[in-house]
Amino acid sequence: MKCIFPPLIEPMRFALFADIHGNLEAFRAVLGTLQNGRIDRHICVGDIVGYGANPGECIKLVKDLDCLAVAGNHDWAAVDLASIDYFNPYAKEAVLWTRSQLSQEDRDFLKGLELVREPHGFTIVHATLKAPEEWNYIFSASDAHENFQLLSNCLLFVGHSHVPIIFEENGGYRYHFGRKVNLKEGQKYIINIGSVGQPRDGDPRASFFIYDTESRQVELRRVEYNVDEAMRKIVEANLPPVLAWRLREGE
Ligand code: ZN
Repeated sequence: MKCIFPPLIEPMRFALFADIHGNLEAFRAVLGTLQNGRIDRHICVGDIVGYGANPGECIKLVKDLDCLAVAGNHDWAAVDLASIDYFNPYAKEAVLWTRSQLSQEDRDFLKGLELVREPHGFTIVHATLKAPEEWNYIFSASDAHENFQLLSNCLLFVGHSHVPIIFEENGGYRYHFGRKVNLKEGQKYIINIGSVGQPRDGDPRASFFIYDTESRQVELRRVEYNVDEAMRKIVEANLPPVLAWRLREGE
């Protein structure tokens, strides 16, 4: 099924980020690099909290930016809207710790997040369109295929795996690192924007995307941040040390 890009009434530049996971150092570094260029709207594709030592501060930044946001599994788990039964022990411990850190205002904000939104002619969901509340992953071409069939827009932005990747609707998929990708008319794309606060593709730098509707380009950006400081805070908060060490390796 083909799709049509919405008519270009007003050119927009979007900054899209996901899986911030309470990593304030990484999130601040990303926002710092955005200061030199124009951004019309910030989009958050879920998991503001969980794992990192600054959940409340990251929620505040998301609110201050007036981000258009959807819920991630950790966001909902932190307010008891998603089960933590299937979380690994470290993730579970981090969610329980995160719960103890949130204010009532933070909880209300996380509870208010929806699973799927379709702003400006594209779609955002943390995990999958097929069953957003089941928190499955889009890894394979067949996972992508199932989601393409449910996608009415040309673009679907997702997070969740912490690995940036772009799927094109041609039965295959491609990785694009550190460069711009020109979106073809009539073609559908699923774009995993990677993780700001806990990258897992072997590159410890924070990952996010820029989408420019005028040039019809998406661009993966990577930003270095103070990993040592983020690690130190995790250890100091008595969170599982593995959550600190993995930041250094980006895995
Ligand atoms: Zn995540």
